[in-house]
Amino acid sequence: MSALADAASTADKPVHGKPCSVGEARASMDKASAKDFDAWLRGEGLRLDDTQMWKALQAMGHRVAKQTVGRHRRGDCRCSQ
Ligand SMILES: [Zn+2]
Repeated sequence: MSALADAASTADKPVHGKPCSVGEARASMDKASAKDFDAWLRGEGLRLDDTQMWKALQAMGHRVAKQTVGRHRRGDCRCSQ
């Protein structure tokens, strides 16, 4: 197997036990904020789009990438694998 094929197969594997940066941010939130965040993920509660949620997370001091917010919301990040 080439190094490239090897890297590609490893990159595809889920990393267990380590959430993405948004998952980490959620884990460090206070209880009420985490509850609001979970509701937002389900499409309930706060009516925020990804950009608005990203801005809110920045304002709370969570350094996360905007794309990661979208990936986390869609269940496309390593938290849900
Ligand atoms: Zn995540």
